[in-house]
Amino acid sequence: MIDKRVAMVLDRLRGFERPKLRLEQYETPGELVRVLLSIADAEVGLEGARVLDLGAGTGKIGIGAVLAGASRATLVDVDGDALRVARENAERVGVLDRVELVRCDVREFRGGRFDVTIMNPPFGVQRRGADRPFVRVGLEHAPVVVSLHRAGTEDFWRERAREWGAECEVVGRARFPVPAMYRHHRRRIKHVGAVVLVFRRGR
Ligand code: SAH
Repeated sequence: MIDKRVAMVLDRLRGFERPKLRLEQYETPGELVRVLLSIADAEVGLEGARVLDLGAGTGKIGIGAVLAGASRATLVDVDGDALRVARENAERVGVLDRVELVRCDVREFRGGRFDVTIMNPPFGVQRRGADRPFVRVGLEHAPVVVSLHRAGTEDFWRERAREWGAECEVVGRARFPVPAMYRHHRRRIKHVGAVVLVFRRGR
């Protein structure tokens, strides 16, 4: 497992200033990032790895990967406000020189090659299908994708993976806390069932 201190550092980073509902901007708690990083570490070895974080938001996953030993992380997000916070966060923990920030829609991203994509993309609740291009683009750039999705979408993803000549394994389940920062949420913290999936590209 990746060191607990990584999660603690991530939980002290700045979050979204004014989260945008349309873009499903929720932050991943440090402990859950640590789980994603630990799975990625077991899959490909994070030490010295080149990591892609799609829908990076305020950068917790990509920055966490660098703190856990990755040589570089590329953070992609369509929202410039979120990336500004991500940049500040990377600077604050002294890893800005190993972090690349790319502002674009995930569908337009063309990068180099990466060892692994680690991400928490939008769940596709606000805009149906918003999560779909993330896995496809993640797999186009790396042989392994570790990502968090809404519970209940496992069969859908297994089907897609098969179409793309990849495999999809459910490696964990989590309750994803969604704070009541949006007006339509009545309770203070609502939990959404989530699954951790690993996609492996066929060779
Ligand atoms: N990965 C971050 C944020 C998750 S929220 C974390 O774990 O804390 C999902 C992120 O995806 C948001 O930052 C949102 O701006 C971004 N996003 C939504 N649609 C996008 C798109 N089409 N292209 C790129 N980024 C997108």
